Amino acid sequence: MSLINKVRLGSSLLGSKLSGHSAPLIINWAITGKCNLRCTHCYGSYGRVQNEELNFDTITKTIDEARELGTKRITIEGGEPLVRQDVAEIIAYISKAGMEMSLCTNGVLLGRYAEKIKDKIDLVVLSLDGTEAHHDKIRVAGNFKKVMEAIETAKQNKLRVLLFSCLIDENMADIDYLVKLAEEKGVKSAFNIAVSKLKGTDKREDGLKLSDETYRQAIGRVIELKSKGAPIYYSDRNFNQALCWPTFSSEKLFGADIEKLQAAQRKTLVRCFAGKHFCYIESSGGVYPCYQTVGTLPAGNIKDAGGLKGAFEKLSKLDYCKACYNVTLSELNLQCSLDIKSVLKVGANYLGKK
Ligand code: SF4
Repeated sequence: MSLINKVRLGSSLLGSKLSGHSAPLIINWAITGKCNLRCTHCYGSYGRVQNEELNFDTITKTIDEARELGTKRITIEGGEPLVRQDVAEIIAYISKAGMEMSLCTNGVLLGRYAEKIKDKIDLVVLSLDGTEAHHDKIRVAGNFKKVMEAIETAKQNKLRVLLFSCLIDENMADIDYLVKLAEEKGVKSAFNIAVSKLKGTDKREDGLKLSDETYRQAIGRVIELKSKGAPIYYSDRNFNQALCWPTFSSEKLFGADIEKLQAAQRKTLVRCFAGKHFCYIESSGGVYPCYQTVGTLPAGNIKDAGGLKGAFEKLSKLDYCKACYNVTLSELNLQCSLDIKSVLKVGANYLGKK
């Protein structure tokens, strides 16, 4: 089923490009703002400031609408999505709608749901931030062991796993360790760089404290390991964009910023398709281009009269950033640009599942 969906997604993207039509072909959806952890680097400060969530009826109605609009893939995230009591029903509903699905989780509750969701989820993205000491310091004491258990649970249930690490000062030196662990576990490793935090529900604050040089060294090490065949997910082009990023104190570039760059640096940028081919639904229903734009735009909400369609169309009237150093979002942008290497990589990730 997944491979067929992948082909469908590719043809929809191609169709959208040829026709110039925008549609939410991919949706990243925070189905809850609640979380059972309080991680220091969390961009959403979940569990502290974002507790509103949509009810089951609104969610299923939106999934129906998404299917009609052409959505082919939904990534379920949060907060921690597995804290929702009806998460298995939501997953079953998306699966029945024939969409490809990823689940981003901290792994604490995976054991409770693995059996129920194993035939419906195409990829489990598990958060792991470093050595046991560093991971537990960032998250909570004892959580590292829970992630190790979650990896085993996922494997027993034949769920495909990606270990996802967010780079901050505490774990910058753990890149080699994380890659080795992924190798030992027979899974892939993914790295991103921390982004600024949501403060309350509508403001952001700068979250990066380290120097540009420190980030560049870390990204350089990821690129080096990847070139030696380490199982690191995400395309070289995205890491290269991050490596050449003007300064990490600005996570996004707007049109005017890009015009000021030298031509060689402009060439390293990955074009943004957020709001054109994919979007983000935050826990209370706000529809944004991506999670990094939450609170920065006068976005619509799926609860408004126009539903998902109206809120998505509203994005086309807004002016926002054109590129960002965020490796995860840039991979999505590469897929939406039908970059062949990125498309093949994602395809390979889903091959063999189902
Ligand atoms: S460039 Fe695009 S993906 Fe990046 S933060 Fe801006 S809207 Fe989101």
